[in-house]
Amino acid sequence: MYSHAFSILFAAFLALMLAVRFWLASRHIRHVLAHRNAVPPEFAEKIPLEAHRKAADYTVARTKYGIVTMLVNSAVLVGFTLLGGLQWLSLQVFGATGGGMAYQVGLIVAFALVSGLVDLPFDYYKQFRLEQRFGFNKMTPGLFLADMVKGVLLGAALGLPLVWVMLVLMERAGALWWLYAWLVWSGFQLLMMVLFPTVIAPLFNKFTPLQDESLKTRIEGLMARVGFASKGLFVMDGSKRSAHGNAYFSGFGANKRIVFFDTLLARLAPPEIEAVLAHELGHFKLKHIVKRIATMFALSLAFLALLGWLKNQVWFYTGLGVSPLIAPGQSNDALALILFMLALPVFTFLFSPLASLGSRKHEFEADAFAARHADKANLISALVKLYEDNASTLTPDPLHSAFYDSHPPASIRIRHLNLGT
Ligand SMILES: [Zn+2]
Repeated sequence: MYSHAFSILFAAFLALMLAVRFWLASRHIRHVLAHRNAVPPEFAEKIPLEAHRKAADYTVARTKYGIVTMLVNSAVLVGFTLLGGLQWLSLQVFGATGGGMAYQVGLIVAFALVSGLVDLPFDYYKQFRLEQRFGFNKMTPGLFLADMVKGVLLGAALGLPLVWVMLVLMERAGALWWLYAWLVWSGFQLLMMVLFPTVIAPLFNKFTPLQDESLKTRIEGLMARVGFASKGLFVMDGSKRSAHGNAYFSGFGANKRIVFFDTLLARLAPPEIEAVLAHELGHFKLKHIVKRIATMFALSLAFLALLGWLKNQVWFYTGLGVSPLIAPGQSNDALALILFMLALPVFTFLFSPLASLGSRKHEFEADAFAARHADKANLISALVKLYEDNASTLTPDPLHSAFYDSHPPASIRIRHLNLGT
């Protein structure tokens, strides 16, 4: 009986999510198109009409692409769950492996491969059609293929041991397995923060120490003013893949690095680069990064505790279209992990505006920090250039923006900066 009720609840939340996302996307497209032919007055002198139209067209194209992938992903989700796809896959893997740990790891690998194959044509389309059409793609098909192979190998090297440890804990660590699993998971996340800048990112991009001496002096001056120590300033060859520009921090403790995309350095003047970096340093100094990591750890603890309870409920499996194995000595932990990953986003979707709100609050705070420690006018001109280069729309639908945007639209950020709030 619970099983039926859970199926209905799941289908209802999925339908609600699709309806909300479709409604927001169509509002967004209408709003952007309605403002396509006029640059907002406060940008009239800074952004040409052609660039504004390009941003509108790019936004509409991306939003439409988002609707298509949403529909396909939902069909795949229903196929795996209510229509019995995961049940079928599970039986195949069980037949091939004879059960035990080989079945469990095999099922997760098979599921990951099927999901990856479904995503592949969409990733290809996005890069070589959508991004290409607007002049942002700098990738060759060969590089796309090399990235994919590296990604799969890296996923196997890092993911397989993690999955194995999780499954062993689920099976053997008793009622509090989820607590130990959380410790392992958190340790893994911290390890990734160390490995990403030093080992993983260099597999995909070249990092060279910043050469420009006058820019270096300028940035070191800024770091001294705000009291920030870093292991180094690096330039990354982001232009290898995309024309979009960015700057970021990575690592933590004594290993912090600042990374500039070559595309960003090519586009911004030194005082603008300084202002953008002051914004990034603001995130660090205002403890946004620590807060984000703490939130992530707290949420994963809550979710693992929930999984600890759900994995012992028969309706959790049957309600999502899977019959748990009942043979003695066989475990359903891999099924529970996969079902949890599939179903969780459907139920947490309605909380995404909260996450976006928190993130936008941090963006305003980092902008205010940058205005105090660098030149406000340079931050504004950098924002205008970046929004233009990335073809971000200046006129998003307000509700769409409130729901999804981790960064406030440029027009609102600049208004806040000018008001000095
Ligand atoms: Zn920011």
